[in-house]
Amino acid sequence: MPVPQSPAEWHRLAAELHYATGHFIHGEHVATRGGRFTVVNPATAEPLCEVAAGDATDIDAAVASGRRAFREGTWRRMAPRDRLEVLNRLAALIEKHTARFTLLDSLCMGKPVRDMVSVDVPQSALTFRYFAELSDKVEGTVTATAVDAFHYTLREPLGVVGCITPWNYPLMQIAWKIAPALAAGNSVVLKPAEQAPLSALLLAELFIEAGAPPGVLNVINGYGADAGAPLALHNDVAKISFTGSTVTGKKMLVYAGQSNMKRVSLECGGKSPQIFLDDLEDMDRAVTYAINGIFGVMGEVCSAGSRLLVDKRIAQEFTARFIERGQHAYVAGDPLDPETNMGPLVTKKQHERVLGYIAAGRAEGAKLEFGGDVPDRPGYYVNPALFTNVDNRMTIAQEEIFGPVAALIEVDGLQDALRIANDTIYGLAGSVWTSNLRSAHAAVRGLEAGTTYVNCFDHGDPTSPFLGHKQSGQGGDKCLEGLLSYTQTKSAWIHLGS
Ligand code: NAD
Repeated sequence: MPVPQSPAEWHRLAAELHYATGHFIHGEHVATRGGRFTVVNPATAEPLCEVAAGDATDIDAAVASGRRAFREGTWRRMAPRDRLEVLNRLAALIEKHTARFTLLDSLCMGKPVRDMVSVDVPQSALTFRYFAELSDKVEGTVTATAVDAFHYTLREPLGVVGCITPWNYPLMQIAWKIAPALAAGNSVVLKPAEQAPLSALLLAELFIEAGAPPGVLNVINGYGADAGAPLALHNDVAKISFTGSTVTGKKMLVYAGQSNMKRVSLECGGKSPQIFLDDLEDMDRAVTYAINGIFGVMGEVCSAGSRLLVDKRIAQEFTARFIERGQHAYVAGDPLDPETNMGPLVTKKQHERVLGYIAAGRAEGAKLEFGGDVPDRPGYYVNPALFTNVDNRMTIAQEEIFGPVAALIEVDGLQDALRIANDTIYGLAGSVWTSNLRSAHAAVRGLEAGTTYVNCFDHGDPTSPFLGHKQSGQGGDKCLEGLLSYTQTKSAWIHLGS
């Protein structure tokens, strides 16, 4: 299916699109036994489809399937080179179905098709390729024992891994979790976000087409409390890999303690600072990154640069340039128009939440320089907003808004900037803009964040870890370490003496 080039072609394809709306268990689409919930297209505020609302019984069936597949061992005992081939075929199928994946996510959560085509889909395919290539590079060790013994360690898959994912990069967040889990030989039960559940089902179907055995990847749809919690509480699940809010992330730790002490890795919320020092080299480039870092993808990015910490010596010029360009940079439009760079927020609830934060910013005395209003069109749109005169104690500087709202805070040099940057419960990402190598290093060391940048923001690659410190999470996605987190070490002692 070729990738459409015009809004009319995208709409025609959307009208003809067929997709599954149930669960996927043991290699097959399964209709729901229970209820359904409605997914609303946020660009129109009209219902899009009804999706299976799974519960503990569905989770039991999916975990049993994953466990059976793991015990039978067709996947985990497959030669790593053969697993590699299956995952590479899946990557190729993702690319082949770019248009379908794009529509499935865009219709559910409002992301512009141009973002899906240029970022989400290719990055998802790349993630599978990267972890495919690592499949046969998971090695053990031989340790330094006395001659009467031979001791080695090996890395084994964990068993059934539960993956729970958010709606902001539906396909990509799934890829970041299931690609390493599968490459390591585990079975997976995936509970995708209820706001954007459709791409997960297509992915599971294509995994079978790529040559995977049934039961290795299962998908159960539904709400967090009804389907996510039973998965995280399940005694036959060896690990929960979670991405979502900090509030829900904390529940995962409780669920693990209440059940089988399963491993938990968490990618949670953020309130990431970008620090702009007065010796930065290229103000225009810095302002561009500041704008894109918070307004891109409607600000619905965990690592969004929502706090702009600008040295007071350059604050006036920086603010003027941000206002001049920032207020026109992102324009509300039809997500299915390849020219559109700003879609709606994901749901009515999220729309109300973001508008609530904008009202709080005004009420607490920050200055709204532009935006924050609702464009005159259907759907859950909000125009990007810039607040200045922000104090870091204000609600808009402390809480994760998950919308296109920037808070500009004036700082006095690097140490003041770091003090304010770190005055948050979060620690996901942070950047510094400077031409001074010493300041750059000091900022990298001083920022309490898992992912740091110098003179850039939000760059990444499957080779580099993405992780949060503090209440932004523990563990992390991507890179070799990400793959190893889906394995456990086994110690083997062989007695060679008499
Ligand atoms: P959320 O926590 O509401 O939901 C995330 C997932 O958890 C969904 O699948 C949901 O159904 C499930 N869930 C909810 N309650 C549950 C429960 N009690 N038990 C089990 N599962 C439950 O988050 P969201 O609104 O979907 O996503 C936005 C959040 O995700 C933001 O905070 C954002 O920062 C974070 N996020 C973090 C990263 C990262 O890599 N750090 C990436 C993307 C999004």
